[in-house]
Amino acid sequence: MDPRPERDARGLVLVVEDDRAIADLVGLYLRREGFGVQVESDGASGLAAVRRLRPVAVVLDVGLPGMDGVEVCRTLRAEQDWTPVLFVTARDDEVDRILGLEMGADDYVTKPFSPRELVARVRTVLRRSGIAPGREEVLQVGAVSAHVDRRRVQVADAEVALTSTEFDLLVHLMRAPGRVFSREQLLSAVWGYAASAGTRTVDVHVAQVRAKLGPGNPIRTVRGVGYAADAS
Ligand code: CA
Repeated sequence: MDPRPERDARGLVLVVEDDRAIADLVGLYLRREGFGVQVESDGASGLAAVRRLRPVAVVLDVGLPGMDGVEVCRTLRAEQDWTPVLFVTARDDEVDRILGLEMGADDYVTKPFSPRELVARVRTVLRRSGIAPGREEVLQVGAVSAHVDRRRVQVADAEVALTSTEFDLLVHLMRAPGRVFSREQLLSAVWGYAASAGTRTVDVHVAQVRAKLGPGNPIRTVRGVGYAADAS
């Protein structure tokens, strides 16, 4: 795993593909178009990379070792993660599975495909999802704004310094305003594991984020359930 993926002007595209030659070719064309590229070669590391790196789009092979592409997408959607997904598929029966995924796939290409076509599809998927390439994702809930790519948070116009984990936690909540997340869901999304014994970690970090954001803090405790980010 590359610990420092490139983040180019148009944003980072995650390519999950176990065929090295295809991954290299796709990466080459995406970079040429100004995207940053991170490659993962199996479903589990692909899933972890989406959570960790927050790419602008995922090029997701269906046939992957272990957890396959459809399962990766299903897991993301179940977590309310709507990162645009462009599936790459080799077989007709895979297409059926992709189309059976309600609201799961943003588009797909079938192998063999031309890399030029794939890049065009990535751009289409980004346009459709409202993410303009090269423009930064900014989340706003109440007085708090999070500049996702620059990893900066402001309350009104004042800069607030959060640790990396605090930032990821806040952004995860702010991406779905009003939605209540359990501690387990937050653990799994932000820390990358689900351990009920560790849910106290979530409380500690929420308390730290609240203290740093002050009166503008958008995180609400939902008794017996978890946390949500609200405007009021
Ligand atoms: Ca494959």
